[in-house]
Amino acid sequence: MRDRPVSPANGLRRNSPLQQLFVIAAIMLVPVLLIGLVLGGSYRSEATRRGLVQGRDEALLMAQSAVEPLLNGQPLSKGLTSSETTRLRTLATDAVRSGSVQRLRLRDLQGNVIFSDDGSGFHDAIEDEALDAAHGHMVVRLTHLNSDSVDRGKVKGLSVEVYLPLYVGSATNRVGVMEIYLPYAPISADVNAGIHTLYRNLAIGLALLYLILLAISHWVTGRLRRQVKVNTYQSEHDALTDLPNRVLFLRMASAELSAARKRAQPTTIAIIDLDRFKEVNDTLGHQNGDLLLAMIGDRLRTHLRAPDVLARFGGDEFGVVLSDVGDPTDVLTRLREVIQGELQVAGLPLSIEASIGYVVSPNDGSSVDELLQRADVAMYVAKTVRSGVIRYDESQDHYDASNLSLVTELRHAIESNQLVLHYQPKITVGGHEVSGIEALVRWQHPELGLLNPDRFIPLVEQTDLIDELTDWVVQHALSEMGTLGSRFETLNLSVNVSARNLARSDFARQVLHRIKKATTEPSRLTVEVTETSLMADPERAVASLLEMSRAGVRISIDDFGSGQTSLGLLANLPIAELKIDRSFIQDIHVNPANAAILRSMVELGHQLDLVVVAEGVETSDELDVVTATGCDVVQGYFYARPMPSDQLAAWLERREVPSTL
Ligand code: C2E
Ligand code: CA
Ligand code: CA
Repeated sequence: MRDRPVSPANGLRRNSPLQQLFVIAAIMLVPVLLIGLVLGGSYRSEATRRGLVQGRDEALLMAQSAVEPLLNGQPLSKGLTSSETTRLRTLATDAVRSGSVQRLRLRDLQGNVIFSDDGSGFHDAIEDEALDAAHGHMVVRLTHLNSDSVDRGKVKGLSVEVYLPLYVGSATNRVGVMEIYLPYAPISADVNAGIHTLYRNLAIGLALLYLILLAISHWVTGRLRRQVKVNTYQSEHDALTDLPNRVLFLRMASAELSAARKRAQPTTIAIIDLDRFKEVNDTLGHQNGDLLLAMIGDRLRTHLRAPDVLARFGGDEFGVVLSDVGDPTDVLTRLREVIQGELQVAGLPLSIEASIGYVVSPNDGSSVDELLQRADVAMYVAKTVRSGVIRYDESQDHYDASNLSLVTELRHAIESNQLVLHYQPKITVGGHEVSGIEALVRWQHPELGLLNPDRFIPLVEQTDLIDELTDWVVQHALSEMGTLGSRFETLNLSVNVSARNLARSDFARQVLHRIKKATTEPSRLTVEVTETSLMADPERAVASLLEMSRAGVRISIDDFGSGQTSLGLLANLPIAELKIDRSFIQDIHVNPANAAILRSMVELGHQLDLVVVAEGVETSDELDVVTATGCDVVQGYFYARPMPSDQLAAWLERREVPSTL
C-alpha cells in the first residue's frame, strides 16, 4: 500500500516526457530563429554600408588621381578645353570598357552636365545630389543605373552612385562636380566574401545555443517533474507513518466504492481511534508518542491486504477501507488485537487499546462523506460503551436528511449571530440568594422560530461544529456578564460543554484564553459536564478538566444520576459541584423513593465536599422537600425560567446577590 501509484485519474493528465520535449524544442526554436533573423539582417545592412564606403573610396581615388589632374583649374561652368575633353573621353572610355565604371559625368557648380561619357544627361533636370556635391558634400547611394527619374535608357544591375566635388590646385578651388556610377557586383562580392563566413559562424553558434538551451531545459523540467512528484506525494501522505492522509484516503475510498458498486460487492469503511494515546504522550513524551503511532501504522499496514486502503487522519485516528471481506467485524476485531499486541516504547512494554466504528456500503450509506461521518458516530459509541468494534446503528444516530441540513445551516447561524443565550439563575436554599446563572443556548432560526437546544445540540455534538458553538457560548456569555454592571461582578457563570469539546487537547487553553480576554477571574466560570461526556474518552476529558480547574475554573457534574458515573472517577476529579438530574426532583413531594434517593445523593455530594444543586424545581411543594434533604442550591421554573440578558438584568436588580458561593 505504501507505494501504491497514484492513478492519472487522481491528478492532472500530463503529456509524456517525449511530448514535452517536442513542445519545448518547438517553443525554443522561436527565439533562436528571431535572434538569427535580427543578427542576419544587421549583417546585411552592415555589408551594404561597407559596400557604399568602398564605392565612395573608389570614386574619390578616381577623382583625385585621374580626373582632377586632367583639369586646368578653371570652373567647369566655363566649359572644357578640347584637350581636356579628349583626355577625359579617353579616361572614361577605358574605364567603362574595363568594367570598373559604368558612367562618368562632370557638372559645373550649378549642376549642369558639362561632360558625359555616353552623351546622356545634357538636357535633364538638375538633380539635388549634384547641387549638394557642388556645395562640397559627397553623396553616395545604391541605385540602379538609369533608375533616376531624370535618367533614360535601359535599367541595369545595382550601382554605387557617387556625386563628389572636384578640387583643382588647392583644397578650396572647387571647380565642379563628378557624377560616377560604379558597378556594385564586384564590390558586394568583395564585401560578402567576409560576410559569408560571419553567416556560417552565426548559424553554427545559434545551433549550438539551441542545443544547449534544449539540454538545460530538459534537465530543469526533469528536476521539476521529480519535485512535483515529491510534493504531490508529501501533500497526500502523513509524514510520521508514511500512510496516505485524509485527502488521499477520500479519493481512494471513493474509487474503491465505485469499483465495488460495479462488482456489486459491499465495502467496509472503518475509523480506528486509539484509547489511551494521550496518556502515552503525556507520560512518555511526544517523541515516543510519535514512535508508537509509527509502529501501529506499520502493524496495520502489514496486517491488511494489498487492495485495502489504510490512512492516518491525524492524531491517533486511522481510516480503513476493506473491500470484499466476509465478516468485517472479524477482520476489524483481529485488527484491534493486532493494535493491542505488546509494544516496546522507551524500553517499556505497552499495550494500546482502540475503538473502532465502521459502516458497510451500500447499506449504511453511499457517499464517502456520509459513510465516514457515520463511521465516526459508531466510533464514538464504541468509545462511550467501551466495546471495541461497533457497526453504525441508525437508532444511535441523530442524523437524518433534515437534521443534516440543520447542522449545515447552523454553521452559518453561528457566523451570522443567529444564536442567543438565555440565562437561568441558581438560588441558594434557605437564603433565597442568587448564587450564579447558567447560560443556555437557543437558536433564533429564520424560518423555524426560536429553537431549544434539545433540537440541535445532540446533532452538533456529533460534529466538530460543537467546538465552534461552545467557543461562541463561552465568549458571548462572558461578554454579556460583563455588561450587567459592577453589582454583579462576582456572579458565577455556568456554561455547558460537550464530550467532543473535552476530547480536544487545546480546549482548556481556549476557554482560559476567552476568560483572559474578558478580563475576568477563572473562578467566576463554572464548566458543566455530563456524566456521559466523561465516559466517552475519560483520559482526555480528565486532562482538559484538570487543566481548567488548576487555573481556577469550577467544574460541575451535570444531570447527575441519569448516567452511570464511576464513583471512583468522581472522587479523583477536581469537581466543585453536583447537579442532580431533574428526573429525581419531579413529583418528589409525592414520591418518597425519589426523596430518599435525593437525600443520599446530597449526602454523597457533601461527603465529597461538593456543592449540591437540584435541577428543575417547579413548585413550592418540590422546593420544600428539596430543602429538607439539605440540598445547597436550586435551579428551576419555580424561581425563574431561562431569560434573555436584558430581562436577567432587570430580574437581578430585584434580588440580592451574595459575593461568592
Ligand atoms: P441542562 O444543562 O440540564 O439545562 C437545564 C435544562 O432544564 C434547560 O433546558 C432548562 O431550561 C431546563 N429547566 C430548568 N428549570 C426547569 C424546570 O423547573 N422545569 C423544567 N421542565 N425544565 C427546567 P434547555 O435550555 O432547553 O437546555 C436543554 C439542554 O441543552 C441543557 O440541559 C444542556 O444539556 C443543553 N444545552 C443548553 N445550552 C447548551 C450549550 O450552550 N452548550 C451545550 N453543549 N449544551 C447546552
Ligand atoms: Ca447544564
Ligand atoms: Ca442538567
